[in-house]
Amino acid sequence: MSRRKFLTGVLGLSVAPLISPKVRLAAAAIEAPSIVAIQARWRDFLAASAVVASDAAPRNRTPEEWRSKLPREAFDVLFEEDTERPFSSALNDEKRPGIFMCRACSLPLFSTEMKYDSGTGWPSFFTNIPGHLGTKSDFGLIWPRTEYHCLKCGGHQGHIFKDGPALTGERWCNNGLALHFIPFEA
Ligand SMILES: [Zn+2]
Repeated sequence: MSRRKFLTGVLGLSVAPLISPKVRLAAAAIEAPSIVAIQARWRDFLAASAVVASDAAPRNRTPEEWRSKLPREAFDVLFEEDTERPFSSALNDEKRPGIFMCRACSLPLFSTEMKYDSGTGWPSFFTNIPGHLGTKSDFGLIWPRTEYHCLKCGGHQGHIFKDGPALTGERWCNNGLALHFIPFEA
């Protein structure tokens, strides 16, 4: 037996049972639909009595109109791209089933199932309700970041980072001031 055949034989015996393609495919098949399922069932977290925007069709208001409808600090985050202090939002610890909607226009953005504790001091999510958030590159700091905002009103929500948990690897780092939480059961 040649050295090459011998090594292949040894590797085949010792490695194949642990990471066979069949096992890899099965793992991928479990992972891929689960994130889609989490996104698809966000309405399961929406209380029957909740009043939210029904779609992401743009709702154009001038900044002055939004200013008159929002607390000053919420307006500054949403329409001046301000950032709240870490650990300052009560939503950081919010774990009840429910929906996090845009504080300005009431468009649902995240379900509790999408939230996790990142330890950063800002409400953090590993994915979002599809079609309700838009992104753009933000060069406000030295390094470029990805900003995201509500598609209905244009209000700034936060930034996306690549250090999130499994499934997506994404951390949608949100300002609590830009959100309003609706518990599934009041
Ligand atoms: Zn909005």
